[in-house]
Formats: sequence, C-alpha cells, structure tokens
Amino acid sequence: MPEGDTVWNTARVLQRALAGARLTGSDFRVPQLAATDLTGWTVRESTSRGKHLLLRLTAPPDAAGRDWTLHSHLRMDGAWRAYGPGERWAARPAHLIRVVLRSPGAVAVGYHLHELALIPTAEEESLVGHLGPDLLGPDWDPDEAVRRLATHPDETIGEALLDQRNLAGVGNLYKCEVLFLRGVSPWTPVRAVPDLAGTVTLAQRLLAANRGRWTQSTTGSLHRGQTNYVYGRRAQPCRRCGTAIRKEELGERVTYWCPACQPDR
Ligand SMILES: [Zn+2]
Repeated sequence: MPEGDTVWNTARVLQRALAGARLTGSDFRVPQLAATDLTGWTVRESTSRGKHLLLRLTAPPDAAGRDWTLHSHLRMDGAWRAYGPGERWAARPAHLIRVVLRSPGAVAVGYHLHELALIPTAEEESLVGHLGPDLLGPDWDPDEAVRRLATHPDETIGEALLDQRNLAGVGNLYKCEVLFLRGVSPWTPVRAVPDLAGTVTLAQRLLAANRGRWTQSTTGSLHRGQTNYVYGRRAQPCRRCGTAIRKEELGERVTYWCPACQPDR
C-alpha cells in the first residue's frame, strides 16, 4: 500500500535514475498532458511531500525558461519504476502506463498515476500547501501535528490520522498498526486519546524504519505474513493476546483492530 514511506522510496528511485539528466523524450498518456513534450528539459530533483511526488524540472532556455514541477500521486495503486536503457518494462501491464520519461541513462515509467499535472514550481504550494507536517520531511514537527489533530476533538483518531491536513504520510496500514501498538481503539475520539504526541512520534518512527525498503514491517519481521500486527489479518489471532483480529468500516476506509488490546468502543 503506497504510504509515506513508499512515496519517499519512489522519490529516491526517480532521483537516482533522473536527477541532473537531460530528457531525451517523453510520452504522456493522459488527456490533460497529451500534447506536452519534455524533450530537452533537465531534471533538477525528485522529492516527496507526504504522499505526493514532486519531480522538479527546468525547461530549456528557448522555451518558457523557468522551473516546473511534474506532480503525481500514487493513491492505492500507482507506481513509478526506473529501467535501464533497453531493459524490458516488466513491472506492470502496458495499458496502465501514464507517462514515460527517457534520459540517456534510464527510462522512468509511471503506472496508474493520479493527479498528474505539470505546474510552475513556484505554485507547488497550491497542490501540497494544505498538508500537515510531513512525517518523513525535513519539516517534520510533532508538536504541530498534535496541534492540528487536537483541532478535531470529536473526530475518531482512526479518521484523524488519515487526514493529510493533520499530518502527511500515514495511510491505512500505518494507522491500524500505530493504534494497535498504542492500545487505542480506532473509534476513540481524538480528545480521549491518552498521548497524542506519543502516537504521532510512533507513526513517524514506523515510517522512518521502512525507508529504503519496499516491505512495510511494523513488527520488525520481514518474513511474509509476519510483517504486521493487525492490518490485513482479519479473523487471525492477535500476536499479543490471541483474540481474533476484527475488520470493520470506519469512515470511508476499513480498519483492523484487536478488541482486547484496543478496548473501549
Ligand atoms: Zn490482542
């Protein structure tokens, strides 16, 4: 599931493949950018903000001659892959390709991307300015995340953690896992969560621990089937107490939790 750590990793893949390179071709397969050609543009850097990817580019001097950002969002199913020249694009079916960026040393292919847009870098804030502190960003600020969460006292903590305006980077997997580890029911109102600072700090630690790898482990184990406490484990025994893990809708998402370890619904 693409969450803050996956997006951070993806930004790094694009950084290694394209940073400093002059593009030798581009192929956009989305209507809004079908006429766009980035040939001759230079990739300045690739970075992430929460779950948003920002590929910063410089247009050639004879064009607009300014700084641009190619924005994309992975949501549930998007991905970027980098391939060597001549390497087979094997990651996903071709009909999911939304953009191809070619450089002398690598080809970057974006699959099933959302919100693909080319905007002046100076206007990035219009797309990401609403986000709360980024758990994996240089601006991570747990106090500000707690302050923003606390402005929604009656909302459930399960929904508030997913609201990227409070803090940016937590998706459904980390939400479920953090609340299990804190012993807090996802239905607890924000005002009744005993230690919001401890909760956001743990979320940050879990995401940070998974930087640089694609397996999202919250248990410390990288073995298949043992990487999570509750997420995706409906009806399986809780790793702590043996109670069957439950799954139920909460807001627009499903949530997983242990009714014994996370009481007080
Ligand atoms: Zn339990």
